[in-house]
Amino acid sequence: ARGATVEDLDGNKYIDVMGGVAVNNVGHSHPEVVKAMYEQANEVAHTADFPSPVRVRLIEELVGIAPGDMRGHSRVAFAMSGSDAVETALKFAKYFTKRTEIVAFHGAYHGVTAGALALTTNQAYRRGLPPSIPGVHFAPYPYCYRCPFGKKFPDCDLECARYTGDMISKSGMGLADRPAAVIMEPVQGEGGYIVPPKEAIEWIAKVARENNILFIDDEVQAGFCRTGRWFAIEHHGVTPDLITAGKGLGGDFPVAAVIGHRRIMDELPKMWNPVTFGGNAVGAAVSLKNIELMRRYDLCRRSEVLGGYFMDLLKELEERSKIVGDVRGKGLMIGVELVKDKSTKAPMDMDKMIWLINRMRDNGVLALIAGRFENVVRFMPPLVITREQIDKVFAVFSKVIGELEEQI
Ligand code: PMP
Repeated sequence: ARGATVEDLDGNKYIDVMGGVAVNNVGHSHPEVVKAMYEQANEVAHTADFPSPVRVRLIEELVGIAPGDMRGHSRVAFAMSGSDAVETALKFAKYFTKRTEIVAFHGAYHGVTAGALALTTNQAYRRGLPPSIPGVHFAPYPYCYRCPFGKKFPDCDLECARYTGDMISKSGMGLADRPAAVIMEPVQGEGGYIVPPKEAIEWIAKVARENNILFIDDEVQAGFCRTGRWFAIEHHGVTPDLITAGKGLGGDFPVAAVIGHRRIMDELPKMWNPVTFGGNAVGAAVSLKNIELMRRYDLCRRSEVLGGYFMDLLKELEERSKIVGDVRGKGLMIGVELVKDKSTKAPMDMDKMIWLINRMRDNGVLALIAGRFENVVRFMPPLVITREQIDKVFAVFSKVIGELEEQI
């Protein structure tokens, strides 16, 4: 694999719009990343959660790009995966607030380890297992295309956010106390690439703040220029308390972290969260190089510009197609929700979605699906993808959509 292309064992070439599930933000096997990986491995690779120069520099970088008031006022704890980062953030929030309950959202995906799994809503991952942690409650995600209250934004008066606000701050909504934290994806990923209205997030964050409930911003999928900002929460103008990061941070090398405001992190016991492989020096060197490349090539801006270009093409397709129900996204995190009928919004059948993805692959484009009904095609290519490659992806996608329309 190179940049935004992948070649298979038979020599077939593909444009990659799944990017290792929103991981390869600077492209596959960037030569400078490979070099940084090798050089650091040659120096020292494993330091058992002790400081190393690259690790310290990475922490400084992360604190330097953290959003809002977290910038310059944060600390970093490393983790092994996105799931593990979520686990760590839950632990920090519970210790800090001395409370135990957590509020997550319908459609959420936060990972596969005990705590993270308990916050994940797709039954495909949970079925057959007992609840893995107690005290988890779910609130309606602001999913305007399928509003949980049957309303239309902006006339809805933010009913879903107000409901969530009441849920976290008032008695009688099923919680034993105020929760330790609300955990939210700033753009919902596995749930279908759903972009919530800014005002909804602002309301939830405001009620959380007023009630000393922490706001955990899960940026594992949406972070690191994916949506056109370092962190997707920046679109919403909200400063979180804890951020979980993974995927694009390490890219070709697994790295994950929790970035937390000092107000919280400084209250945690010392030497309390040892992670043997945490902050591995090779991972730190690679992450530093990723951040350097994101800056050098202005990948946040590139994501915003190319994402806007792609969205315009897809919006035109939405207008003329009978099965493209909704096109939404930020930067190069774009979802296209397919329906059998635009007026009823009946989700496209799973077998048709699989047919579509396979057909795209046969035409040289690697894509993935998502969504509560598995009816969303998601586009999350390496951010180094070119305009010409996007044109090709669009040509393939619109052709295959046309073929699918004929089957409906
Ligand atoms: N949070 C979000 C928002 C994710 O999208 C994912 C992975 N899809 C995770 C957490 C879990 O990350 P990992 O697979 O690295 O454990």
